[in-house]
Amino acid sequence: MSSFPLSGFATRAIHAGYDAKANDGALVPPLHLSSTFVFETAEAGAEIFAGEREGYFYSRIANPTVDLLERRMAALEGAEAAVATASGMGAISAVFWSFLKPGDEIIVDQTLYGCTFAFMRHGLARFGVRVTHVDLTDPANLEACISDATKIVYFETPANPNMRLVDIAAVSAIARDHGARTVVDNTYATPVLTQPITLGADIVVHSATKYLGGHGDLVGGIALGTSADMQQVRLVGVKDMTGAVMAPFNPGLACFAQHDLARRQMPGFGGMIAFELKGGYAAGVAMMNRLTLVQRAVSLGDAESLIQHPASMTHSTYTAEERRAHGIADGLVRLSVGLEEADEIAADLTQALDAEVSASVDA
Ligand SMILES: *Cc1c(COP(=O)(O)O)cnc(C)c1O
Repeated sequence: MSSFPLSGFATRAIHAGYDAKANDGALVPPLHLSSTFVFETAEAGAEIFAGEREGYFYSRIANPTVDLLERRMAALEGAEAAVATASGMGAISAVFWSFLKPGDEIIVDQTLYGCTFAFMRHGLARFGVRVTHVDLTDPANLEACISDATKIVYFETPANPNMRLVDIAAVSAIARDHGARTVVDNTYATPVLTQPITLGADIVVHSATKYLGGHGDLVGGIALGTSADMQQVRLVGVKDMTGAVMAPFNPGLACFAQHDLARRQMPGFGGMIAFELKGGYAAGVAMMNRLTLVQRAVSLGDAESLIQHPASMTHSTYTAEERRAHGIADGLVRLSVGLEEADEIAADLTQALDAEVSASVDA
């Protein structure tokens, strides 16, 4: 699973799960933005779908970039496997949807993150799951009320927001004796400070939005546990029930070098230009009508260069007065520069503008 299975924490945090040789020697892992993956043969595709052969087929189920984050986090938490999600709530809800049915009971700590509380108390309860709050800081409280109907014991340690700790080993042992899974929200501690699975917990969840992201600029989550449990979370909780899959741009461990790259290169995607001709609206319309390569169309950011007139198109929801008040001139033209040859885009604009200049001189 990990390329450095026996190494220490810091080495695993930087290297686990990645093999540069399998990625054209790239030191920094590439981003795989593809939503879908090509099958060598129809038979191979059927085998991948059936789980009989390793391989990717659709990024809602698995993606090589997200897969690296999952393997690295598993190496840090001491878990067999992981599933990264769109948010912490995505991870938490996917875990619960994967293992519960009406009539089941869950026992959860008194103190929970606000939305986790809402999800359980007001959400799961509506679907026939009994939610019992117990002060898990004393494991004897769990012993007193756990039953065969209990399917999950859930807590945070330290808890958000009051920092109460729960004895992971003691609570997990009681839960295991009754056939219940122990699920720990490890958001506060991170695997740097606590590795609940090594202490007996079955599943760990994180809001990766917090310490794991570490820069306050992404929303993400992750669930970790046995391969069998994570397969269930992946194929039921994430694939079918929530769809809360993580996007390849999101893996954002502080140690994950692509994170900064993604942030740095996003501001480079600026291909938008707005300008106004001296002749105002009539001149703008005439100029647009002379273009042959640049397409007259709304929307932006496409491969094709697109030009449009905001006052009569995208911003016609504003009244003329509102446009004036909001600085949208009636003659303003908006150009989204596409990916055609730059000199050909420039030549098209130049001929349309030159013709407009000579038309206005003639007039
Ligand atoms: C923030 C948080 C969550 C929810 O995570 P999101 O990424 O915001 O969905 C869950 N548990 C704890 C302890 C949190 O602090």
